[in-house]
Amino acid sequence: MNAETKVKKYLDAIRKGNKKLNIFLHVNDKALEEAKAVDKKSKKGRLHGYVFGIKSNINVKGMICNCGSKVLEDYRAPYDATVIEKIRKEDGIIIGMLNMDEFACGSSGESSAYGATQNPRVPGKIPGGSSSGSAAAVAAGLCDVALGSDTGGSIRNPASYCGVVGVKPSYGLVSRYGLTDLSMSLDQIGTLANTVDEAMLVLDVIRGKDERDPKSVDSSALKIGKTEAMRIGVVRVSGVDKDIQKLVDTRVDNLKKQGFKVKEVEIKHIDLAVQTYYPLVYAEFFSGTRRFDGRRYGKKIDDACGEEVLRRILGGSEITRAEFTGKYYKRALEVKELITEEFKEVLKDVDCLIMPTCPGFPWKLGAAMKVEEVYASDALTIPANLAGICAVSIPAGTIREMPIGMQVMAGKGDEGKMFAVAKELSRIGL
Ligand code: GLN
Repeated sequence: MNAETKVKKYLDAIRKGNKKLNIFLHVNDKALEEAKAVDKKSKKGRLHGYVFGIKSNINVKGMICNCGSKVLEDYRAPYDATVIEKIRKEDGIIIGMLNMDEFACGSSGESSAYGATQNPRVPGKIPGGSSSGSAAAVAAGLCDVALGSDTGGSIRNPASYCGVVGVKPSYGLVSRYGLTDLSMSLDQIGTLANTVDEAMLVLDVIRGKDERDPKSVDSSALKIGKTEAMRIGVVRVSGVDKDIQKLVDTRVDNLKKQGFKVKEVEIKHIDLAVQTYYPLVYAEFFSGTRRFDGRRYGKKIDDACGEEVLRRILGGSEITRAEFTGKYYKRALEVKELITEEFKEVLKDVDCLIMPTCPGFPWKLGAAMKVEEVYASDALTIPANLAGICAVSIPAGTIREMPIGMQVMAGKGDEGKMFAVAKELSRIGL
């Protein structure tokens, strides 16, 4: 299908479906024009015919990039993030900006200042977050692919709840230039798509070293090798719903039948992931948001933000103040290092690790959840961010009509292995 036909189809679907689902915060009024222009090109790029939705914390020139917050309500980005430049260069079309938890703080999509997004697959339930709109847009058929950001699970968690594929690349694989960070030492931009192949193609386009992000690295990671001799490590974490674990175990058994070598492995300190993650995020978020002082962009964040963002700002300020004694941030960094080493060690022995994406099911929109319960829903996704390794969530099936995701994780820069196993799992089917 040419880009013009696709864009028309999606604009129509957005017009019909967005009111109910609350996925798009801004639609690109030039999308059709841009599609016609790429269709006319004699030599077309690798993303010709792909239509993108973008999480609202990634800058796209001229569009409203409000980070799901009233703080940046009327903010139109004056430039394109590196990932957007790369997508445009390969003739991808950006159709609009997607809903998200405010400043990417959340796991349900409910902290957006513009109202929660609905889960298109499970009416009345949360879509997951913070890239709530990104997963929902793909699941609802409002775009081909979406970009999200993942600090502790924000791509994989909604991908799991909405039944799509979501990739968190190794730290540094994708430039963060133009991303409004939640936590700069953990964030990665990644892709959400209907298939592993599409997620991989887009990641291949957006990755690469960028001098505007000093943490970005060169990598030939996406070369897919042979899968025959792959060794898989199964990680079990306490607190996972047993039906979810059982479903994932069935998928692993299927791999075994294909000749994969499977063994159980242990990451000793994985249970500390959530406690380790939050002090780091609070402190880095606090420091990163000091620029939202109401002078240069939008409103002063402390005055105009929602409850969860304020909690992190106040908490981050406390942590930063106590830091001269090395009480929180430094200790969290030490445990981060420990977990990183543990992953490195087990990944000497196996090529990929498999575990569920979320320990439980999506909850009812608006349900009264305790902060600790919400934080705990990322217990299985946070470890990959702490260790800087890559992880993809792919659909593992459904339980009581709710999509369930499973994660394939591999070492830093080992996206090739991760995709090979994810592709094999998709090939075998459910
Ligand atoms: N839910 C986690 C948090 O609130 C993860 C967010 C994210 O990955 N951006 O921090």
